[in-house]
Amino acid sequence: MKNVIGAVCTICGKMTEANPNTTVCPACGGILDIAYDYDYIKSKVTKEDMASRNDNSMWRYREFLPVEETTAAPKLRVGWSPFYKADNLAKYLGIDTLYIKDDGINPTASLKDRASSMAVAKAIEAGKDTIACSSTGNAASSLAGNSAAMGLKTYIFVPERAPIGKVAQLKTFGATVISVKGNYEDTFRISAEAIDRWGWYNRNAAINPYLMEGKKTVALEIAEQLNWKMTDYVAISVGDGCTIGGVWKGFKDLYAAGFIDKLPKIISVQAALCCPINTAAAAGTLEWSPMPEDTIADSIAVGVPRNPVKAIRAVLESGGITVNVTDDEIYEAMRILGRTSGVFAEPAGAAGTAGVKKAIEQGLIPKDASIVSVVTGNGLKDVNNAIKAAGQPLHVAPDMDALLEAFAEIGDPHK
Ligand SMILES: *Cc1c(COP(=O)(O)O)cnc(C)c1O
Repeated sequence: MKNVIGAVCTICGKMTEANPNTTVCPACGGILDIAYDYDYIKSKVTKEDMASRNDNSMWRYREFLPVEETTAAPKLRVGWSPFYKADNLAKYLGIDTLYIKDDGINPTASLKDRASSMAVAKAIEAGKDTIACSSTGNAASSLAGNSAAMGLKTYIFVPERAPIGKVAQLKTFGATVISVKGNYEDTFRISAEAIDRWGWYNRNAAINPYLMEGKKTVALEIAEQLNWKMTDYVAISVGDGCTIGGVWKGFKDLYAAGFIDKLPKIISVQAALCCPINTAAAAGTLEWSPMPEDTIADSIAVGVPRNPVKAIRAVLESGGITVNVTDDEIYEAMRILGRTSGVFAEPAGAAGTAGVKKAIEQGLIPKDASIVSVVTGNGLKDVNNAIKAAGQPLHVAPDMDALLEAFAEIGDPHK
């Protein structure tokens, strides 16, 4: 990899060689961060080159990605998700400029596809035919889908509370699914033991430094879709912390390579009763404490985050803000996204937007600021919560009197 210098430890700063099996720092066990040669990247690609590419996937940013030049892009078309100027929603929230990046529109319907596409590419570089991970649900379904398309086998560990939509995806993609009678913390531990024992390729995002490099492509796309003129803020929901860390890394890479001339402030959104990363970031420290996993937003119900350091640094380095949202605020954001913008988000997918709304109400963001809100997962993944958020339809007998009666009850304006 001519564009990669190595992997730097986020704790002790030691540089190690970046090979496909690289996991954590051999010296101290810290999480690694892939380091690039930005002069090399600059010599290989310009903003203008980018505009002429017709690869509408995350692999259009190859020069910024840690893969061998000869490694083929995986088969599922991941990335280049829709980017909307959300004027109705901006008006509703009382702000000038808001964009929605809808990453629920990915092959398996979440942002996690970006990490899984990278995982599959690296597993193939490593010569492995089996990949495993533990996940709150979306990392699992995306790994299973991306692997199936490449003919790789998968072992997936999920906590028993994983929503049925995600489990249905896993089974459909042919994964061996282990539903663990315990929480995400228990699930992560048993998966790590199994991966060690059987030598599978490890797609646990915090342990495998390449995966965040896949996730960072959402930031590269946002910048390109903004024609390289960055907004003031980018909001994202946070569980383990890999996504927010990836988003920040993506913007820093673009800045270092001279593609953008301003870095956005990162808005980190967590659930009010499960916010270990935000609690630490708000206190300006890397020291965090575990919390119970108490929220309906299963994808961010992470009481023991696996990537706290990169996540907290994303907030602190960017001069960002932290917002914690209740389950009711998340349900409200699901309705607002749907009704103002036609975007269907799962609870964790809408949490970022809930955070934007709350931050505006609390005066943390000026009304003339420009904001991107990333929707990280699709609402079809968790229809039970969608119905809780949006309500039931009118139940009527098949005759006009019953219909008129039902309309009278709701005071229907179209009648
Ligand atoms: C995984 C996930 C997140 C949070 O990402 P982390 O890397 O765990 O912080 C947010 N939203 C959705 C839909 C997810 O699947």
